[in-house]
Amino acid sequence: MSIDSIDTQIPATLIPGDGIGPEITEAAVAILDALGAPFDWDRHQGGMAAIKEGGDPLPASLIASIRHTKLALKGPLTTPVGGGFRSVNVRLREEFGLYANLRPAKSMVKGGRYEDIDIVLVRENLEGLYVGFEHYIAVGDDPQAVAISSGINTRSEARRIIRFAFEYALRHGRKQVTVVHKANVLKALTGLFLEAGREIALEYEGRVQMDERIVDACAMQLVLNPWQFDVIVTTNLFGDILSDEIAGLVGGLGMAPGANIGETAAIFEAVHGSAPDIAGQGVANPLALLLASALILEHVALADRASRLRAAVLRTLEDGIRTRDLGGTASTRDFTSAIIARLEGH
Ligand code: NAD
Repeated sequence: MSIDSIDTQIPATLIPGDGIGPEITEAAVAILDALGAPFDWDRHQGGMAAIKEGGDPLPASLIASIRHTKLALKGPLTTPVGGGFRSVNVRLREEFGLYANLRPAKSMVKGGRYEDIDIVLVRENLEGLYVGFEHYIAVGDDPQAVAISSGINTRSEARRIIRFAFEYALRHGRKQVTVVHKANVLKALTGLFLEAGREIALEYEGRVQMDERIVDACAMQLVLNPWQFDVIVTTNLFGDILSDEIAGLVGGLGMAPGANIGETAAIFEAVHGSAPDIAGQGVANPLALLLASALILEHVALADRASRLRAAVLRTLEDGIRTRDLGGTASTRDFTSAIIARLEGH
């Protein structure tokens, strides 16, 4: 009996998403199937696709599905700018308390600006300036003369996310966690985060080293000498900015996977958006969602299959088979078939 045939099914929610979402989720599911990953997909729409179907961008049936499966693979969702509805991505994070945003960045394509980058960024996902507590103060006849925004960081959340980063480092054989802050200016808001970092680091002494950086210096160091970083943990807004910078070191958002992890549920996605400019043309690069699929495999303790998936992706890229955004000519389907053909043991 093969190992695959004794796997028990793992229920998981699949959200095809908007724009290129259906094309890249189809690619991810085909490759996971070829790997023998035992996911039992429960498909639900979200975002614009869900509005078209039933008028609600975050249908109750989708929430119920994730509550049941505790696991989701999500295509990108379109969020209208300005008016319209609140970001479904942010609502999902809040609904399921997905406090940790994990963004690994690893060089895959040779010939980029940097080689051998391997950095994992852990971003706090629920607090900071992202809470959006904002208002205006009127002065004279200008009702919006002053804009005020309050950030909120709690000691309990800072401890939780920093512990998550140290635990991740331990489990993945990583040596150092850098706590990024701006405690020299935002003494309360990010000073509390740094303090929690120093406190939690003591628990890991001798196993994982702690390093601390001010966010602006860290942003510069990431460009000058990114190899000095291993795992980085930071607050919501700094994490938002630094994670895109780090994705840029390894070839941009097309290669960047993300995981949103909570105590009771986890949602895996590509970091890029729904790319409406190329939707439906069959040319989208599924790599970011495939790397997110490797993260979901690791999350359900199928790390061997995650390694096989990454190895097949690497071989495909090394053989020069690439989608248009990476300078190649392969369609999404050709690229997907090429990866399947290179899966070890396939
Ligand atoms: P985008 O990431 O969708 O696109 C930016 C550029 O990168 C476009 O030129 C696009 O064609 C290209 N691109 C992105 N992904 C690609 C891929 N896999 N293969 C090839 N090319 C790719 O960013 P945007 O245009 O700013 O956003 C479009 C929509 O996506 C917006 O509604 C935004 O709110 C939403 N969005 C969703 C998520 C999410 O669901 N996680 C994340 C970011 C943006």
